[in-house]
Amino acid sequence: MKESSSNSYNFFSMIDKIVDANIISHAYIIQVNNYAEDFLLIKNFVKLLLCKEKKKYNDLLSCNKCNLCSLVDLNNYPDLCIIEPDGKDIKKQQLLSLQKEFQNKSMFDNKRIYILKEADKLNEFAANAILKFLEEPSDNIIAILVTVNRYKLPETILSRCQVLNINSIINDVLYNDEIINLIKFICDGESLFINYNYIYESILFDKIAARDKLKIIEKIFIEYLTFKNNDEIGKILLTVSNDIIIRFILIIERYLKMLEYNVNYKLWLDSFFASLLGGEIDV
Ligand SMILES: [Zn+2]
Repeated sequence: MKESSSNSYNFFSMIDKIVDANIISHAYIIQVNNYAEDFLLIKNFVKLLLCKEKKKYNDLLSCNKCNLCSLVDLNNYPDLCIIEPDGKDIKKQQLLSLQKEFQNKSMFDNKRIYILKEADKLNEFAANAILKFLEEPSDNIIAILVTVNRYKLPETILSRCQVLNINSIINDVLYNDEIINLIKFICDGESLFINYNYIYESILFDKIAARDKLKIIEKIFIEYLTFKNNDEIGKILLTVSNDIIIRFILIIERYLKMLEYNVNYKLWLDSFFASLLGGEIDV
């Protein structure tokens, strides 16, 4: 299996890799908690794969405006096929029809994507048919198998797909009060200033803590801009505009880079806070 052994492997490290190295797998398994709730996230993932208008500074994000993004939003992108169980399982015939459809030329000269909803319900014949697709991948065709439990899929299918777990990053950090508080302070500005000593002594107490926690916060910000999750953190981020969140991301990236050099940590932290608050001082 290509998945890392640690559970911390998450959706974002995968998206980072896809975007940075342009490594797009031809088959993904996305594990979700709930089909209805998480399906929007999957559609956003599809947009990330298709969109050619990604912005320069937040290039992890699809633009949400171009023709391709709009078509996906409206469920009208002709080269996207969604297959759901027909009755109690997904049948071989459904996959053969799909295969036939995908033999025609793409209308957009872009990727063609099929999503198997409830992929754990592939019956034996359908599983064999999909295995054939996965063993002989065609250029520009991407399979997305969605499941609530990837271990219900045959090992032969699992081993040919990149596994993404949409919820892992949220599970990792959602209940971490430190991170939630820090995000609150950053968004509020004034409380960042008021709580300076507390943050310095208890949260961002040294370079390593700062590096690890700011990386998590950066990912949360990017995830929010991508998926607009409405969880506890999403509600805090809703109090500031997207432009401000993008500014925070750029500042965090810049200050994370500085941390790789031999900077005076206290000066670095002062300057980082000043930047977040709109001013800046030399480190
Ligand atoms: Zn777009």
